[in-house]
Amino acid sequence: MLYLVSTPIGNLEDISLRAIDTLKSCDLIFCEDTRRSSILLDRYGIQKKLLSYHKFNEKKSLEGILADLEAGMKIALISDAGTPCINDPGHILVAQCVEKNIPFTLIPGPCSPIQALVMSGMDTTRFQYIGFIPRNGTKKAIVQALSYPGTTIALESPSRIRDTLQEIVALDAERRVAIAREMTKTYEECLRGTAKELLAHFAKEPKGEIVLVIAGGGILDNLTLEELIGMLQELHGLTLKEAIKVAAVLKKIPKREAYNYMQSLKNLNN
Ligand code: SAM
Repeated sequence: MLYLVSTPIGNLEDISLRAIDTLKSCDLIFCEDTRRSSILLDRYGIQKKLLSYHKFNEKKSLEGILADLEAGMKIALISDAGTPCINDPGHILVAQCVEKNIPFTLIPGPCSPIQALVMSGMDTTRFQYIGFIPRNGTKKAIVQALSYPGTTIALESPSRIRDTLQEIVALDAERRVAIAREMTKTYEECLRGTAKELLAHFAKEPKGEIVLVIAGGGILDNLTLEELIGMLQELHGLTLKEAIKVAAVLKKIPKREAYNYMQSLKNLNN
């Protein structure tokens, strides 16, 4: 049986009794970084064989782990912090367990995106999680987030947060955002405000770990017709014809005007 075990995202006391029991009673523990996980295990007197399982060896180790699970071993998987599989290794293994009918479960616990969502105070009834904002394609990710009707949760590095806020400001300076930093740690803070306000707040690069939360909006008024049509095609899977129709409705312009505009762009590019 495979046990995915959530571990603290900062404060070592944020571990459940069941997580401790599971780690104590399993045959071995896979983790991303044995030195880092040893700190947690030492704290709770857990003495178990620790083996590394990280993004660089997760495919290679798969066969061995599956064989051990099929042989009846009780194996735990933890990541450096938080919930395995959430921007951490585990998913490939879980998918294989599903395929091979190997039993597995998740011992619930800390998960930074969910922690940040709650801390943000934003709508929790509808949300999307987009992981790390891509370095290539930041604008596209931001446009998608800003046009999503619910709350968006994204991971971001301190060195890039100001550039990302700048992208948001360029499209919608008044959009409400929250930045949850160093959650559960000594210097935990959650800043809430408009994108413009938080950009001004971070005159210098912040320190620590960050989750960015963006309030839901709707279609952006300040996207050009071309950008809007592109977004509807790319992010919502519409054909060009459908996208033009929807864009015309959203922009409150006649359909013909939208067609003509796209036609003029096509002529320009030919
Ligand atoms: N699986 C983890 C989880 O469930 O929280 C997420 C792993 S991901 C590789 C690490 C990222 O999560 C960090 O770069 C940061 O964006 C976010 N993160 C983790 N711990 C955090 C904390 N204490 N405060 C703010 N963000 C955190």
